[in-house]
Parts: sequence; structure tokens; C-alpha cells
Amino acid sequence: MADKRFTLEEVAKHNTKESFWLVIDGEVYDITKFVDVHPGGAQILYEHAGKDATEIFYGLHRQEVLLKYKRFKIGRVEGAEPQIEMHQPGAISGVPYSEPSFWLGYKSPYFKFRKEVRKFVEEEIKPIAAASEEAGKGPSAELYAKMGAAGFLSARVGPGPWMKFFPAFGVPAEEFDYFHEQIAHEELARLTYPSFSDSLGAGMVIGLPPVFNFGSDALKKKIVPEVLSGKKRICLAITEPFAGSDVANIQATATRTEDGKFFIVNGVKKWITNGTFSDYFSTAVRTEKGITMLLIERGEGVETEQIKTSYSSCAGTAYITFTNVKVPVENILGKDGKGFQVIMYNFNHERWSIISAVVSSNRLVLEECIKWANQRLVFGKKLTSQAIIRFKIANMASKIEACQHWLDNITYQMTNMKYSEQALRLAGPIALLKFLSTRVSTEVSDDACQILGGRGITKGGMGRVIEAHQRTFKYGSILGGSEEIMADLGVRQALRSMPNSRL
Ligand SMILES: Cc1cc2nc3c(=O)[nH]c(=O)nc-3n(C[C@H](O)[C@H](O)[C@H](O)COP(=O)(O)OP(=O)(O)OC[C@H]3O[C@@H](n4cnc5c(N)ncnc54)[C@H](O)[C@@H]3O)c2cc1C
Repeated sequence: MADKRFTLEEVAKHNTKESFWLVIDGEVYDITKFVDVHPGGAQILYEHAGKDATEIFYGLHRQEVLLKYKRFKIGRVEGAEPQIEMHQPGAISGVPYSEPSFWLGYKSPYFKFRKEVRKFVEEEIKPIAAASEEAGKGPSAELYAKMGAAGFLSARVGPGPWMKFFPAFGVPAEEFDYFHEQIAHEELARLTYPSFSDSLGAGMVIGLPPVFNFGSDALKKKIVPEVLSGKKRICLAITEPFAGSDVANIQATATRTEDGKFFIVNGVKKWITNGTFSDYFSTAVRTEKGITMLLIERGEGVETEQIKTSYSSCAGTAYITFTNVKVPVENILGKDGKGFQVIMYNFNHERWSIISAVVSSNRLVLEECIKWANQRLVFGKKLTSQAIIRFKIANMASKIEACQHWLDNITYQMTNMKYSEQALRLAGPIALLKFLSTRVSTEVSDDACQILGGRGITKGGMGRVIEAHQRTFKYGSILGGSEEIMADLGVRQALRSMPNSRL
């Protein structure tokens, strides 16, 4: 039926409530059964009965609405060629600046990988994201298992020996590098449902590295496969009500039992991403020797409670109470009293992953703005015909490109440096780039809301992505080290290698 051809004269005859057709980009839709349930009311539709409604449709709806109602398509107008690109799962956008430049016609060995990850996100995750975000529900065991099987979870923790057992999207273990990992973070950030994105392993990205970098062989052997296969979930529990930026002020205690075989942990942790549904907690505690990292398993004495933040509860942001929790001493990550080093070691990777997501979501917002400004007619002209709107696009595009290039440079350095060298040489630049990219988010959010107008602050519909961004862009500026701390750290690190030079 959808292959049938109609003349415009034939379409025009179907202009009544009893038989209501219209044309969108050459496709003929019979919406007779839909008119009365149209969310915007039937009235607005009547003046387009039997006519071409392409412009009015795209002036008011996102393309995904067409895909949702594709069952009403009955054919095409004879001789009409499609003028508007239909999005295909995994497709790379051709909108200027909407992808890193090396995807827009430049060469890259990572092209295939990005397409596969994007396809997975759009086919396996996106269809359930909106409902999960609305319901505030974390991911199902089934989705986690699928991500594990595809190697999406392992891709998010980066290159390492586990890649042999959990290869990511078919990339041979020895070829997988930090650019692949960056792509995995970038693509998940394009989901446009920030809380659901974070529910899919944000806790693992920061909670598993202390285990594989500092855990005993026995711990690694047990925990890493459980987590990367998607069977178990892990998070990082550092922050407390009185220890946020000031990590050294951690108050949770771990006291050795008399036989020396266990610690008894007491204390609270605040804002722990994925905490409500995690099985394991890489936790900072204070022993008699000082700050120490311990792997704590959910069990007696561990309670997690949801903290409501600006985004949905699916990310499982938790307040955790540990009451007399018995933890084997073998669960120490690193050395007793040397937890601060473990925490610092972990921070670079965490911050770099946050930057990847921030730059990617800024870019997606830019793409939405360019598309919108190019289709929205105001005072009879496209928004892009206004110099001040082009200026806002220029402001966003130039700063996003700058962040992307710095990010790619850092990723290249990570790919070519040992982890210990990265910690030494990249901590400062990563801190400064985190500071810069989240400052850019602030401007992107502001510019984007102005370009979208009322839609930019309306949930759902044309401005959905912009509204979600302006509600959540601040997360990146606070988690993993806030902007003020990042700016300061970046400069302090730089001054460490200051030569004794003079003006
Ligand atoms: C949604 C969410 C998820 C999180 N997930 C996790 C998680 O999974 N695991 C975890 O351990 N933690 C997590 N955190 C905690 C996060 O890392 C902290 O919120 C962050 O480190 C800042 O600490 P704070 O909020 O206590 O702010 P504070 O430390 O109280 O700082 C308040 C403000 O003062 C500024 N400030 C502080 N010190 C200075 C200074 N010396 N100079 C100038 N300005 C300063 C800060 O920049 C900040 O803007 C999460 C937080 C949120 C909100």
C-alpha cells in the first residue's frame, strides 16, 4: 500500500473528516483515524486536509513524530522526490558542526566503531529511554546484559586486559584504545535522556577502575567479569555531607576487628551515582592509618536511599548509610592508609570521561539549534537569516570545536602514555579542559534556549533536547570536581613544572 502513487488532484479529494489525507515531503498519509486524537486538536489539521502540509508539520513537530505514525503512510505523490533527509539508526549527521570534524568527510579509523555504537544506542537504548526516564526507573537486567554482551560496558571503562574477554563491538582487544572509549562516552551522551544515560554504567566508569587498578588478583577475578558482563553493578562512594571538594575530610570509619580479618564500617555517603541499585561500592573510609579505599558488597548494614536531583531518578543517585558493615580486609583497594592516592589516580579518567560526554551533548544541542534555526520562519524569514542568531551559532560552534580538539589531543596523549605518566602530565590539562567545557555548556545552554524560544523551556516536543540540556548541564560542572576546583588545580599543576624563568 505504501508503494502506491497518487496525483495531487487525487489527494485533494480526501479533504473531509470521513477521508482525511495530507502530504508530507511527497509522502501521502491517510490520517482519518488520527484527526480526533491529534494532541494539538483536530481544528488545526482541517485547513491542511488534502494538501501539502510539509512546512507546517516541520514547523511544529520533530521528525520522530513521522516515524511514530508511519503506519498512516499510504503512498507517494507521483513524481515527487523526497527533499528532507530521514534519520536512519546509526547515521552520521551532515549538519555542519554537528559531528567532530573528522566524521564530516575527513578520514578516521574509528568510523565503523562509532557507527556501531550509535546504532546500538538508537536501536537498543533509545526506544525505552523516554519511558524509563519518566518513570524514574533504572535499567533492566536484560539491557545491562545486552550492553555487556556487545562490549559497551567494557568500552566505557577503557582499554585493558578485560578486552580479551569482553571485546567491544568486535574491535580486537589489542586495537582497542582511549579513542574507542571516548566514542562510547560521546555516543551515550547523545541519547538525550541524561539520567537514563547515567543509569547505564556512570557509576561503573568511576567505581570499577579502583578495583582493576588496585584490587587483589582474587578481587579482580571475581568482580571485573561480573560487572562487565552486566550481571552486577558497581559505583564509587567518596562524597559525604562534609567531604565534597574537600575529599580529605572523609569521616566514614573502618575499624579492624580484634582478629584483624575484617573491618567494621560506619558512616554515610552522599550523591552516589547508581548507588540505589549497585551491588558493590568502591568506598573511601578512614582507618587508623588514614584514608583507605575498600570494596564493600551490598549486604547487612548497607542502606541506600534515592536523592532527588534535577534529573530523573533513573540514575539512582543515592544517600548511603553503612552501619556496622563487616568487610574482609582482603577488600582493601591499594594499601591501608593510601586511599587518597587511589582517589586521585582515578580522578583523571573520570574527568576525561565527563568531558567526552559534555562536549558531545553540547554538540548535539548545537545540531538541534542549527536545524531549528534553518526551518523556523519568523517575520516571514528563516531564523538563520538573522545575524544575531548566526552569531549565537558561531559562538557555540567555535567553542565546541576548540574543546573537541583539546579533548582529542589529550586522548591521543592518553593513548601513548602509561597510566602513571598520564596521572603526572595530564591532570592539569584535564582539569582545565573540564573547566572550559562546562563553562561552554553554560553558554551553549543559554544560546540554545534563546534560539528555541518557548520550546527551549518546554518539556517534550521540538525543544525537548534543549530543555533537558538546560536542566542538567550543571551536573558536569559539579561532579568529579567542580569548576572552581578544576580551574585552580589546572593552574597549580602547571606551576609545578614552572622553570625558573623571568620576564
Ligand atoms: C548528581 C550528583 C552525582 C554525584 N555522583 C557522585 C558519585 O558517584 N560518587 C561520589 O563520590 N560523589 C558524587 N557526587 C559528589 C560530587 O563529586 C560533589 O558534589 C562535588 O565534589 C562537590 O562537592 P560538594 O557538592 O560537597 O560542594 P562543596 O565542596 O561544598 O563546594 C561548594 C562550592 O564551593 C566551591 N568551592 C569549594 N572549595 C573551594 C575552594 N577551595 N575554592 C573555591 N571554591 C571552592 C565548589 O566549587 C562548589 O561550587 C555527585 C554529586 C551530584 C550532585
